[in-house]
Amino acid sequence: MYSIPVAAPAPQPVNWGKVIVAGLGAIAMWKVLQELTDDDFGDGEYPRAVRRDLIDEHVEAEGCNCPDCGRRVPRSSLSVDHKWPMSRGGRTSLNNARVICRSCNSRKGARANVFDWLSGVRA
Ligand SMILES: [Zn+2]
Repeated sequence: MYSIPVAAPAPQPVNWGKVIVAGLGAIAMWKVLQELTDDDFGDGEYPRAVRRDLIDEHVEAEGCNCPDCGRRVPRSSLSVDHKWPMSRGGRTSLNNARVICRSCNSRKGARANVFDWLSGVRA
């Protein structure tokens, strides 16, 4: 029995430039997809109807519980917050919305990030 000798392919050096470009491309793609599937309400607060819908969904899924502090609060104490604060470039969009209680929302500015707190940026 003969076996045909097969030359092992020479190991290719990793082209990190290509890897990084592919990674950045994937991130850009993800961001574009996010924006395509996102509803953007521009600068400022969420419109009243949007807040009502988001809070309705939250209450239906998890009850009147605040995901931040875990407390059960009256429905009227739930508010819609920016996951990524507007002061740091967060958009008023559905993908950036989350429901937390009012006391967490008003406390969050100071807690969001110690560097924000140090530089006086408020969420
Ligand atoms: Zn809370």
